[in-house]
Amino acid sequence: MKKADKPTCVIIGAGIAGIAASIRMAVKGYQVHVLEANSFAGGKLSEFELQGFRFDAGPSLFTMPQNVEELFKIAGKPIEKYFAYKKLEVICHYFYEDGTVIHAFADIERFAQEVAQKTQVSAQTIKQFLAKSRFKFEITNPVFLQKSLHKWRNYLSLSTLKGILNLHRLDIFQSLHRTNQKLLKDERMVQFFDRYATYNGSDPYQTPGVMNVIPHLEFGIGAFFPIKGMYSITQSLVNLAQDLGVRFHYQTQAQRIEIQGNKAIGVHTTQGFFPAECIISNMDIVGTYHKLLPQLKAPQKLLTQPKSSSAIIFYWGISQIFPELSLHNIFFSRNYAEEFKHIFEYKTLYYDPTIYINITSKEKPDDAPAGMENWFVMINAPHNVGQNWDELVKQARANIIQKLNRMLKTNLEPLIVCEHVLEPRTIESRTSSTQGALYGNSSNNRYAAFLRHANFSTQIKNLYFCGGSVHPGGGIPLSLLSAKIATDCVPSIL
Ligand SMILES: Cc1cc2nc3c(=O)[nH]c(=O)nc-3n(C[C@H](O)[C@H](O)[C@H](O)COP(=O)(O)OP(=O)(O)OC[C@H]3O[C@@H](n4cnc5c(N)ncnc54)[C@H](O)[C@@H]3O)c2cc1C
Repeated sequence: MKKADKPTCVIIGAGIAGIAASIRMAVKGYQVHVLEANSFAGGKLSEFELQGFRFDAGPSLFTMPQNVEELFKIAGKPIEKYFAYKKLEVICHYFYEDGTVIHAFADIERFAQEVAQKTQVSAQTIKQFLAKSRFKFEITNPVFLQKSLHKWRNYLSLSTLKGILNLHRLDIFQSLHRTNQKLLKDERMVQFFDRYATYNGSDPYQTPGVMNVIPHLEFGIGAFFPIKGMYSITQSLVNLAQDLGVRFHYQTQAQRIEIQGNKAIGVHTTQGFFPAECIISNMDIVGTYHKLLPQLKAPQKLLTQPKSSSAIIFYWGISQIFPELSLHNIFFSRNYAEEFKHIFEYKTLYYDPTIYINITSKEKPDDAPAGMENWFVMINAPHNVGQNWDELVKQARANIIQKLNRMLKTNLEPLIVCEHVLEPRTIESRTSSTQGALYGNSSNNRYAAFLRHANFSTQIKNLYFCGGSVHPGGGIPLSLLSAKIATDCVPSIL
């Protein structure tokens, strides 16, 4: 690579965090090159087509759109030229084995009435619960999500002081499940709110009650749908980056980061050497140390933290319309405690899994042929520790079909016209995600926030990290924030 006039920033990985970092570095005045091992951008946030059906391959729920909007704002480009999304009026349909069906309306008043009608929980209790969720979010967001936890100066602020003074109200010292049991009592609603632990791949019976910040993202801020599907988040940000002069190099795998003295000076790749004044790795942090930085002493304690859960996904073309289903649907397990014990303790699958079905053709009809639907059917699974996945996938498929036949009163097998499967091994091989974890480290430990890797290297100058495996964690919103925090750590060009 020839050296440019502007200082050069090389970003390893075109995951959503790598793309966001590229936009931020271009705005800072750098010439930016993004190196991507795959032939496409987006990493986990990608799409594919199968026999006339379009599927978003990974994330299906879009929250905190302000993190995407901010990228257009700082770039000075009108978002409407690139990206459109809408707020969902009904967030999700929840199905229980006892026949209860709860529609999670985005409007809190309407949702509270729905819950009061169908369960033992009063509308007032639900409203109080969601107000508490908002309070937790407002206290923790400025401290844990927006800034580096690894710079002392960030602890000397009013928001941190407020967080410390309110620590006793955040339910850090009891599990999410215990917190929900105390507040809600009705087992169906406890299960409903326990499920939010899975939004960062954690176990509600271990992760602390502070995770009740997550329902606020859906009910307080909103659940959204990108008009052209989830993949349009990736596409629109790549278009924005390219309009700012960022260059994407596909099928270009980073092999080693070159260090001179205590400075990172470039990246060796399958397509040659890329010199750089600044390097940001969006590759999973474990792989970044083990594969790209073998000469450095790796921070073993941080790298060996337990990983989040993974998933098995069946992408099915379905030759029928199911009017009782919406964009997001949950079919709960009869025994949530056993399901999580199997995933996190026994590292296997429970025979009665909670099933999530995402059907984008409900909102975007051209994602499936007329009269048909594109089903993304997902169950939580343990991360990969060498299980017999061929056998587990086979069993899961049979158990899912049996449960859905029962709960939807249908016969699913003959309706499946095409199928594709993603499981922990393939998630790992496609995105270099350690053990196929969806969200980097799990948040089961109450100190997890402090046990993620920082967004910069303490050993090597000019080296930074972003993505779901580093601070502040996984999921689209936090991965986008990791790009913000990492690039905020890069000194401005003089
Ligand atoms: C099935 C599934 C469902 C999910 N559901 C949701 C959801 O509903 N909502 C939500 O918010 N989040 C969800 N997530 C999580 C979310 O997708 C991730 O947290 C987020 O996309 C991570 O982005 P990232 O930028 O950290 O990394 P990744 O998407 O993992 O991208 C990393 C990129 O780096 C590239 N790379 C790795 N090593 C190299 C190398 N050596 N050289 C060059 N390139 C390299 C990879 O090819 C990849 O493109 C889901 C994930 C999955 C898999």
